[in-house]
Amino acid sequence: MNFPERFDVIVVGGGHAGTEACLASARMGCRTLLLTHNIETLGQMSCNPAIGGIGKSHLVKEIDALGGAMALATDAGGIQFRVLNARKGPAVRATRAQADRVLYKAAIRQTLENQPNLWIFQQGVDDLIVEQDQVRGAVTQMGLKFFADQVVLTTGTFLGGLIHIGMQNHSGGRAGDPPAQALSQRLREYPLRVDRLKTGTPPRIDAKTVDFSELQEQWGDEPRPVMSVRGNRDMQPKQVCCWITHTNEKTHEIIRGGLDRSPMYSGVIEGIGPRYCPSIEDKIHRFADKPSHQIFIEPEGLTTHELYPNGISTSLPFDVQMNLVRSIKGFENAHIMRPGYAIEYDYFNPQDLKYSLETKVIGGLYFAGQINGTTGYEEAGAQGLLAGLNAARRAREQEAWCPRRDEAYVGVLVDDLITMGTREPYRMFTSRAEYRLLLREDNADMRLTETGRELGLIDDDHWKAFCDKREAVTLERQRLKDTWVQAGSDAAQQLEGKVRSNLTREYSLFDLLKRPELNYGDIAGLAGNVEVAEAVAEQIEIDAKYSGYISRQQEEIDRLRAHENTRFPDEFDFTAVEGLSNEVKQKLSDARPETLARAQRIPGVTPAAVSLLLVYLKKRG
Ligand code: FAD
Repeated sequence: MNFPERFDVIVVGGGHAGTEACLASARMGCRTLLLTHNIETLGQMSCNPAIGGIGKSHLVKEIDALGGAMALATDAGGIQFRVLNARKGPAVRATRAQADRVLYKAAIRQTLENQPNLWIFQQGVDDLIVEQDQVRGAVTQMGLKFFADQVVLTTGTFLGGLIHIGMQNHSGGRAGDPPAQALSQRLREYPLRVDRLKTGTPPRIDAKTVDFSELQEQWGDEPRPVMSVRGNRDMQPKQVCCWITHTNEKTHEIIRGGLDRSPMYSGVIEGIGPRYCPSIEDKIHRFADKPSHQIFIEPEGLTTHELYPNGISTSLPFDVQMNLVRSIKGFENAHIMRPGYAIEYDYFNPQDLKYSLETKVIGGLYFAGQINGTTGYEEAGAQGLLAGLNAARRAREQEAWCPRRDEAYVGVLVDDLITMGTREPYRMFTSRAEYRLLLREDNADMRLTETGRELGLIDDDHWKAFCDKREAVTLERQRLKDTWVQAGSDAAQQLEGKVRSNLTREYSLFDLLKRPELNYGDIAGLAGNVEVAEAVAEQIEIDAKYSGYISRQQEEIDRLRAHENTRFPDEFDFTAVEGLSNEVKQKLSDARPETLARAQRIPGVTPAAVSLLLVYLKKRG
């Protein structure tokens, strides 16, 4: 049967990429359909119940700055908030929240159900409708055909998903969910490069069987951070404690004894796992001299006793899992509620995508999230938002919006994937961004919300709040620049003891704020009492302290932008450029960069090769 109404955009999959994709498209006013296996699992966290962390919170805040749902849902569901790298510079500071799974999912579902222009339909998608290299719709398991010229696939770990526990394995999208087999087969018929990756999760523990008396407590931070610029502390639920324990020599011995039945070490698993989230058997193997590894014990929610032991992801057989868990301090009598497992799944080489996340071979077909070889909710959400908004722009015959590396972490993410591809699950780190000082989590709104408004992603309330904040920052910065403190004045005396050297001349308050020993609180009151929101004060302080470095980064960006505008023609033959080594020709032909700047970022493409390309392009005119 054909579904009687057409859509502008169909999104397949209601995980982190899919929910942001369909929300973005619908916010832009496009008729959007979300097709997903199960409405109960919208926004489900497949692995650890936490959002944010280093590099990841930058993505969450960018999603938020573009009107997305992840940060607000985190405030609605967060049961412990922390600022990581608090003592380091603002570029690498990151917010992380432990979330109650149920509350987080409920917040996402509520957002989806209340979004105008968005329709949700529960059913697996088995096939795509493609006519002459252009997607026309999707077909569900019961043969129902939905039509749209833009389809975004966000199928996560579900394509050809194979779950491993010890030497046993079975098909599944994640524990308790079906895999997407038919769609996996169908996609393999297209000229898209496909491979396998794997990821894993730890066994979950019943808190009633844990002895907390000897475990180290870990509470959240005060003052408590807020994830969304539209969120606040009052909307956050009750906050709880986490704990820390450790593996020990006995644990490691048990693991080593089980390695012959490990699907990873016996060669049953072929896919490559996440380097930065290794399984415990991987850690024991790779860091053989370490006598102990830390485990963060994180509650899964306020209404459950289930605990997530962060650090012992494993696919060892269940008997080994039980023994290793019970060898750990506090877990001597622990009951495992769900076994740990690994999952292998299909992912597609992101080098077959355009920067809009549309596939190069099928018009209107977009990929976002784990299907592109990334790992993590935040990486998925950011790609989903981008794919959804670009699908909506295509529906309106508008050009794609592709943020640059110096504008957003999502720009870094997509550029890394497309320029270099990935052979292992890709996760975001601040070290991946060369313009870290510009791409801070605290200024995501200042960087992106105006663009988001132009793209049609930002509603009136959000826009007004943003404009108010921006104006407050401008006014307060100007006030500090216009207010002068004379040497010997009352104000100068108030600063004595705080400043390293006493004031010998006249300074503006803004100049004083540049001093490392002074913060906004120290100087703001010196010129009358002005009420300024925490977020406004933070912007001004960072601006004052880092403005020198920030403008140097900006100059470098402006210099490099010239290459950003040097484009290769569509069918450019990289093998025809004389003087390039065969290796460089191969790399360029595989990646097919659209601009000289992107060619420059491909590993192995030397400055000399870039010069040759530039000369060749100039000669061609
Ligand atoms: P998902 O969240 O997987 O969502 C996919 C959605 O698509 C689901 O709702 C599914 O039902 C739906 N779907 C799939 N196929 C179809 C179809 N044919 N028709 C209709 N609907 C469909 N990340 C980390 O950062 N660190 C970790 O340690 C980590 N460990 C993990 C361990 C396991 C066992 C798993 C399963 C995941 C793990 N992840 C980890 C990854 C994290 O869960 C994903 O990166 C993130 O959820 C990806 O989001 P997504 O939207 O791409 O896909």
